Amino acid sequence: MTGPAVTGPFALGAALAGREQAGLLRNRIATDGASGGRLRVAGREYLNFSANDYLGLVDHGAIKAAFQEGVDRYGTGAGASPLVTGYSGAHQQLEETLAEWLGVEAVLLFNCGFSANQAVLKALLGKAHLLWQDKLNHASLQEMGSQLPCKMKRFAHNDMAALERQLEPNRGLIVSEGVFSMDGDQAPWRALATLAAQSGNWLMIDDAHGLGVLGPEGRGTLAAQGVTPASVHIQMGTFGKALGVAGAFVGGSRELVAYLVNFARHYVYSTHMPAAQACAVSKSIELVRAADEARAHLGQLIVRFRQGAKDQGWQLGASDTPIQPLLVGESRATLQLAERLRDRGVWVSAIRPPTVPVGTARLRITLSAAHREQDVDRLLDALGVCPAATTVGEACHG
Ligand SMILES: *Cc1c(COP(=O)(O)O)cnc(C)c1O
Repeated sequence: MTGPAVTGPFALGAALAGREQAGLLRNRIATDGASGGRLRVAGREYLNFSANDYLGLVDHGAIKAAFQEGVDRYGTGAGASPLVTGYSGAHQQLEETLAEWLGVEAVLLFNCGFSANQAVLKALLGKAHLLWQDKLNHASLQEMGSQLPCKMKRFAHNDMAALERQLEPNRGLIVSEGVFSMDGDQAPWRALATLAAQSGNWLMIDDAHGLGVLGPEGRGTLAAQGVTPASVHIQMGTFGKALGVAGAFVGGSRELVAYLVNFARHYVYSTHMPAAQACAVSKSIELVRAADEARAHLGQLIVRFRQGAKDQGWQLGASDTPIQPLLVGESRATLQLAERLRDRGVWVSAIRPPTVPVGTARLRITLSAAHREQDVDRLLDALGVCPAATTVGEACHG
């Protein structure tokens, strides 16, 4: 079989070759599923330190049962966009549950966090507006920000003085993250709320990695930092990380949600998430709210890992969350290190540019309440054979 001609207006081959030469070519690996802090690939079981399943819920019996019951009741698909007939009682119930949990007036569901972020920015920001973003914000925010007619200013990571210098009164939206996805550190939400209030601008949190993990009842970064939900105009979170399912939401005032129902194109022109999925997420939230023990266990694993990695001389991030980056620097060295850990039965992601800035390639280690202390010790043992102090390439003869 021959495919279409490879010549034409798009230099795909050259782009791929460029990535390959820089050690940045991405390839996918089809797994046989993950559960209990383990990952099965090609018949082998690995300890999984690269998922965002922070509470170990991706394979939880009660959530699976809720999903299955939802399928029995509502079928497999929503069948239409939410403004047509795709919106069901299960969606409405989930929105109400989220609003009550997070202390917002109203909530709107999206198929994924990427589209939720893009929808909000696109619906709100016109030519006359300004958008201020942390430089380490997620690609969905950066990318949409740079495509919009508004002016975008990016401030140095968590640098509130830099943001304050850039702010103009009553001009637009400040966006940052609860927990930064590649670094694991948190934004200073009290300071952000103060700056937003003083300058008369709106404030939005992307709490994809804080939701379920931080704060009382897992309410997220704002709750953990003691920031009242009323001081943040837009809360966005996802269901595919700690909640173990998929999808996302945007919460805020009733007026904001009514506006998005009318003007958020990713909402209006997209088939709604399956009702069964909404049933599963509602069940997951019930479990997450009651998961203080799992969060305490996770906290202990984080401390154990950081101490062990520090003793081995690794450069850790300023993170007290389940996202623990180990800075390596060079892309190829980082890839090699990840491969060597895999040889030892430990699955860790190598994160390279353009996901992170050039020269800051890293292992992104994520811990989960599904891990046991012995699992963390096995990870540390594997890292110990590839000592941080030695140049990668020479290390790991063990
Ligand atoms: C994962 C992630 C998203 C995207 O959410 P999906 O539901 O996976 O599309 C958005 N923002 C941040 C910070 C994320 O980590």
